[in-house]
Amino acid sequence: MSSTEPQEQLYAAREPIFPRRVKGQFRTLKWWLLAMMLGIYYVLPWIRWDRGPALPDQAVLLDLANRRFFFFMIEIWPHEFYFVAGLLIMAGLGLFLFTSALGRVWCGYACPQTVWTDLFILVERWVEGDRNARIRLLRQKWNAEKIRKRLTKWVLWLLIGMATGGAWVFYFTDAPTLLSNLAQGTAHPAAYITIVVMTLTTFAFGGFAREQICIYACPWPRIQAAMMDEDTITIAYREWRGEPRGKQSVETNGDCIDCMACVNVCPMGIDIRNGQQLECITCGLCIDACDEVMDKIGKPRGLISYLALKDEAMERAGGHPTKIWKHVFRIRTMVYFALWSGIGIGLVAALFLRSPIDFNVTPLRQPIYVTLSDGDIRNAYDIRLRNKQGEDARFRITVDSQEPVRMQLEGETGNTITVAADKLKTQRLYVIAPKGASMAHAERSEITIWIEDITSNVRVSESAVFNGDGR
Ligand code: SF4
Ligand code: SF4
Repeated sequence: MSSTEPQEQLYAAREPIFPRRVKGQFRTLKWWLLAMMLGIYYVLPWIRWDRGPALPDQAVLLDLANRRFFFFMIEIWPHEFYFVAGLLIMAGLGLFLFTSALGRVWCGYACPQTVWTDLFILVERWVEGDRNARIRLLRQKWNAEKIRKRLTKWVLWLLIGMATGGAWVFYFTDAPTLLSNLAQGTAHPAAYITIVVMTLTTFAFGGFAREQICIYACPWPRIQAAMMDEDTITIAYREWRGEPRGKQSVETNGDCIDCMACVNVCPMGIDIRNGQQLECITCGLCIDACDEVMDKIGKPRGLISYLALKDEAMERAGGHPTKIWKHVFRIRTMVYFALWSGIGIGLVAALFLRSPIDFNVTPLRQPIYVTLSDGDIRNAYDIRLRNKQGEDARFRITVDSQEPVRMQLEGETGNTITVAADKLKTQRLYVIAPKGASMAHAERSEITIWIEDITSNVRVSESAVFNGDGR
């Protein structure tokens, strides 16, 4: 490149966006979803769920200290991590399914970045006024009014950020206890650090970065293109109907009066009339704005609407759009749905079929057997038994084998052990084959170790190998 050629700028300074207030069906839907999702987020850690005296009574709790996850009646233990993996896969497939059918509907309605940004814009509008007032305030010199409005807005944003960070830490420990500790200054430093980090990131992301996060930081806009095709329902401007845009009084003009209402309400600051754009989060606010204009000028609604690309081309050629359900229920979405529901059914089945007694047996390998002074052969096993109940429980341990053998529990006189509520116990078990038994001399013999919950009589077993001396 010659030194005289102009250099292309790789960085563009952010132009602040001041979305105008808009009313309409999609805006109303977004308000309802926002209220529901924020309500769930803030309220969930405070819901109680009785699991007995030894277990926490918080309905949703990520108990990192004990490496467990409680979700109402469901309890996931560390060795059951496949449930979490399954849920994450389902979340991913759900996102593929929705993107394939309805484009970036997640981004426009449910992504936390969108929800919190909407909330921050609501506060901004409440303090500083609607679009024009906010633009005026930006341009005016710093004076008492500007300082007052900016400070009020930032304090409110910080309070929302604090509430966001505060609610987050309540998911990891008993919420009422933590709240009291936080108030008294006796909570763990990690709780304070998390709240500060969450407060500042919420403040920065919702207040200042906003659409920058969606455009530059989030990988999803780039990946989603692979999941969308011409059947995907997304936002489109009916160019064939709107153009040429301009004054309504000019007979040859289309329906678009170039009022810029669709651009002024857009939280991403784009003009959807320029066609599909990476920035568009398909929030539908431009539809509401344009429908309002169409109502005022007496034209049919839907100049901008949710539309499949296929239909846009068909309409342009004078045809009729395909029915929505035909776009939504197609091979690609059915495959995603089948995979998603298959994993879901598998997880639910695994949840109900999992054993109420969780144990495993590890034979001791060094040495693999011991010859006792009387010639009997002894094998040792470590039994790891987890009491998943909310109170102490007694378990009976027995051994089945082809010939009578003796068993002994280290540190116990009988064949029962007590495992404290909610704890894991490792118990050494000795199995002894008399010297005259064939098991004492066979290389390997199968045995079965049984664990029985004495209160419920539920029994489970695991096979193990008994090693003889091979002579
Ligand atoms: S163009 Fe319309 S749908 Fe896309 S982000 Fe802007 S307002 Fe939302
Ligand atoms: S709101 Fe509708 S009429 Fe106004 S500029 Fe946008 S597309 Fe044209």
